[in-house]
Amino acid sequence: MGVDIVSWLDWVISEREDAAAKAQESEASVIMRRCVADRMIIDLHGYRAHSCPTYDCDGDLSEHARFYDHEVCPVVQQLANGYGWTAGQTPPIEGDRVT
Ligand SMILES: [Zn+2]
Repeated sequence: MGVDIVSWLDWVISEREDAAAKAQESEASVIMRRCVADRMIIDLHGYRAHSCPTYDCDGDLSEHARFYDHEVCPVVQQLANGYGWTAGQTPPIEGDRVT
């Protein structure tokens, strides 16, 4: 059984925050800035009814695509892709690490 993409992102970012706590100060601040920014992106786009720019079926940028609160917009999808999301992701097992 897969896990929803926003919950998965929350888990991955939490792992990064835990890693930041163990990193040297300069590296930790870089990691934490990224985590804060990604959480703000998720807060704006994750499972929230909103309009978001996306490409239409012709490949043209459509600035008025509407997403309902149960849908994943391209911003969340691309953020998750950057963290290594794959469709059908299985729930994390204790001890799993995201690299
Ligand atoms: Zn969005």
